Amino acid sequence: MRIVPIPCLSDNYAYLLVCRETKEAAIIDASEAGPVLGAIDQGAGTQDSRRDLASLANHNREDVRIVAILSTHHHHDHVGGNEEVRSKLGIDRVYGHASDRGRIPGQTQYLQENETFEIGRLKVRVLHIPGHTLGAVAYVVTHEPDDPVVFTGDTLLIGGCGRLFEGDPPMMSESLSKLAALDPRTKVYCGHEYTESNLRFAAHVEPSNAAIAQARAKASQLRKEGRTTMGATIADELSYNPFLRTSSPEIRRTLGIPDSASPAEALGAIRKAKDAFKIGA
Ligand SMILES: [Zn+2]
Repeated sequence: MRIVPIPCLSDNYAYLLVCRETKEAAIIDASEAGPVLGAIDQGAGTQDSRRDLASLANHNREDVRIVAILSTHHHHDHVGGNEEVRSKLGIDRVYGHASDRGRIPGQTQYLQENETFEIGRLKVRVLHIPGHTLGAVAYVVTHEPDDPVVFTGDTLLIGGCGRLFEGDPPMMSESLSKLAALDPRTKVYCGHEYTESNLRFAAHVEPSNAAIAQARAKASQLRKEGRTTMGATIADELSYNPFLRTSSPEIRRTLGIPDSASPAEALGAIRKAKDAFKIGA
């Protein structure tokens, strides 16, 4: 499989997911039509997506057939391009959670937990991960012998998690647990380039964690080169993401979370501290 990040708006990502064998492809989160259509037609975008698209061209880019849009949740910065992209490319499948009916423009497929479908020969499995919104889903994509990938929208972010707009901490805690339990090699592609500010907060709450310093250095280098920080693995995230590390004694000490607090209570406290630390994410 091949994944092409397409930068949209100020810090969103849409993605092109391509099955190299069949040349069928899907767009994950058609955030806005212009950059998505531009990336597909002309190879516009960041250095990263230009390079990826150039190499896509080597794999018969002209033959790539976009067959579906996969929406992670209903927020406008993730579905704003659905209608235009769908009509311009003649796409007849638009996926989203069943409970997002009426909130995802152009939706035709109403997904439930663990439902599966295919993009070419890529197998896609749906995880319902409420918290950021009630209808949030993750798309887990597998194709041997490639490493699996997961598109997490605004639920699990690299180094962080999304704000709790519609759900509560126990809900988000359960959703993040599902993602944490994926194959540790699974690569994470999320909805926003918030990695550096997320890791700043991670370092603040767990200063002695060497994995955070390492991740910050890597993210800073990638951003300097104009590249995305996407594609960190679940194993990476477990080593530095404070929202997956609610039992860390250092995080609990920093934020005054008692030992007796449940993972969900700790997550709520970490989320509250992050909201106060910096607006965003
Ligand atoms: Zn969102």
